[in-house]
Amino acid sequence: MSMTPSTLPMLGGSDFEVRRILCIGRNYAEHAAEMGADVREPPFHFAKSLPALVLADGPTAWPYPVATSDCHHELEVVIALGCGGAGLTPAQAAACVVGWGLGLDMTRRDLQNAAKKASRPWASAKDFDGSAICTPLVPAEVFGAPTEGPLVLTVDGDVRQRGDLKQLLWSVPDLIAQLSALMTLGAGDLIYTGTPSGVGPVQVGQTLVGTFPGLPTLTVSIVAREVAHGLG
Ligand code: MN
Repeated sequence: MSMTPSTLPMLGGSDFEVRRILCIGRNYAEHAAEMGADVREPPFHFAKSLPALVLADGPTAWPYPVATSDCHHELEVVIALGCGGAGLTPAQAAACVVGWGLGLDMTRRDLQNAAKKASRPWASAKDFDGSAICTPLVPAEVFGAPTEGPLVLTVDGDVRQRGDLKQLLWSVPDLIAQLSALMTLGAGDLIYTGTPSGVGPVQVGQTLVGTFPGLPTLTVSIVAREVAHGLG
């Protein structure tokens, strides 16, 4: 596992220094439905700490995490902010996106289910070492600001998640604007935009491949923790 705790490479540019990781929940109708949520409710967010960040630059070995027996993949489009502010309009928010990547919001689903049942926060389920996997970023000036495109995750060659960016319940500009109504956003904020349906458990030995047109391919192999230590 390639650990770069606070930066992600920007292809053709200088490194993007991450200051904060925010993740949007339930932003695809089918995934919200599979998790038992009312698809019409506004999105919400949670945060991951910087030690959660893992760069997946090429095939990446990812150690199965501690404290879970039900760790799930959530493939997501990731956006990087080059500016911010509070109370942004969607147009102002869109202008702050400087980079795009493909990521996995890895989730200890068993701990999340327990937290939900106890009405406790999701930190133990969502914010753990290596839980925020991300490819190198593609500059927005190269990538544009797509509003559609297939988001696909295979596990050992079998399609597990297949969605389309046009299925986002809240668009990228809208979700940034909504976050900016809750906090002052700024350069270095990295936002996971939510996952389509098909989330499921990963096992040691499996290889996950995520794709979105124009973004680097995300390739992650799940390895045992002991092996990961051996790889250094
Ligand atoms: Mn997610």
